[in-house]
Amino acid sequence: ELANRMAERGADLVKTLFKMGMPVTMTQTIDQDTAELLVTEFGHNIVRVSDSDVDLAMDTTEDAPDTLQPRPPVVTIMGHVDHGKTSLLDALRGTDVVRGEAGGITQHIGAYQVTLKDKSKVTFLDTPGHEAFTAMRARGADVTDIVVLVVAADDGLMPQTIEAINHTKAAGKPMIVAINKVDKHDANPQRIRERLLEHDVQVEAMGGETQDVEVSALKKTGLDTLIEKIQLQAELMELTANPDRPAEGSVVEAKLDKGRGPVATVLVTRGTLKVGDVFVIGAESGKVRALVDDKGRQMKTAGPSMPVEVLGMSGTPSAGDSLQVVESEARAREVAEYRQSVLLQKRTTQAPASLESMFSALKANQAIEYPLVVKADTQGTVEAIVASINKISTDLIRARVLHAGVGGITESDVTLAGASGAPIIGFHVRANAKAREIAERQKVALKYYDVIYDLIDEIRAGMAGELGPEA
Ligand code: GDP
Repeated sequence: ELANRMAERGADLVKTLFKMGMPVTMTQTIDQDTAELLVTEFGHNIVRVSDSDVDLAMDTTEDAPDTLQPRPPVVTIMGHVDHGKTSLLDALRGTDVVRGEAGGITQHIGAYQVTLKDKSKVTFLDTPGHEAFTAMRARGADVTDIVVLVVAADDGLMPQTIEAINHTKAAGKPMIVAINKVDKHDANPQRIRERLLEHDVQVEAMGGETQDVEVSALKKTGLDTLIEKIQLQAELMELTANPDRPAEGSVVEAKLDKGRGPVATVLVTRGTLKVGDVFVIGAESGKVRALVDDKGRQMKTAGPSMPVEVLGMSGTPSAGDSLQVVESEARAREVAEYRQSVLLQKRTTQAPASLESMFSALKANQAIEYPLVVKADTQGTVEAIVASINKISTDLIRARVLHAGVGGITESDVTLAGASGAPIIGFHVRANAKAREIAERQKVALKYYDVIYDLIDEIRAGMAGELGPEA
């Protein structure tokens, strides 16, 4: 890479490094000081390029206001198991006026879009639940605009309902409550509205701002009202994107298809993706060979908020990866190769995060919020810990418990913590193997305690130390 940029032969660089007492191979990474020395040695000028020169970090420049056009909202459905998430997704799919008419066959590609009678569209992510939602967010693919929380009217608020509420709040997304199974004789929607108050969710009927709607996914009632409320929420949010630019998107799902090769479902976030476009996707590159929508139709283009299957990649990317259209195949390959080398390096050198590093990050950002996930063995201890943590908060630094619950530390706790850069506090509980593995990968700190005093003491010491003697 360095030899290329200097227009020298790689072998000459290696030879010089040998003479300097550094036996390295052509593909090995060298540190910046050595690279600078080498460049001077060859009589070239040092030009420092940032990683983003080689990589295409997601373009953060905003599109000019006059290029923005309304785009459909992207909705994720969450809720406790068996409360009807899948049934509701299926029922909502049926509200599409284009489906059937177009003769298409439903394809499960990870997301789908419905066109309503008034021609407006809504996109639904097909993988319900807060785990997928938070995992995507942790990877920087924050594609959801609105969350629909499904609660079964005959069952009430359950552990995953509460997790879903907390994950939604941590992400700062608006929520619409769909009270499902109202066709059942023992359904009690009012009790749900009351119980929601305990978790700081105030629906309109209780004087709050959160919209709620009674539905039956089974009998297909209330669906139009639910869609109306989604549209109303979307209007308030003024969701827009520039469709006239090179496309960017996020991978919702990816697989290696026997017949078609690597296939990724991409949700376009801005721009318009076209057949023939050259792109980088995660650490892979490609050229769009075909675009297929959720009805199995071949498309020529896909605009903002549209989910499509993309064919024509060098390999299979991962959910949460970004797609960016670039100007040339050489450029696409260069970026993909660079990202693969970074991935390889990360795997071998990643150090686990600590409370200390969290605090220094906080300091650098001048942030005063200290996010935490708390798990303990009983409801009583959970409450005691949260109360104590809240007490040690000051005007300068304030603890924010994203989620607190009873039981061992799970995968879902780790993804939530990872997405918000929070450590996890385990009191009398430990993380399971899967959770530990993800924590290590995502650099989430796991802190175990058996004495509340120690726990509070350590957090307080950390906060005080970070703020300095004056605080
Ligand atoms: P998920 O685990 O949240 O995806 O829930 P499912 O969609 O799989 O639904 C769980 C069970 O509840 C299934 O047996 C559904 O048939 C049933 N169910 C879903 N919605 C309704 C509804 O509106 N009314 C009734 N009576 N049953 C429903």
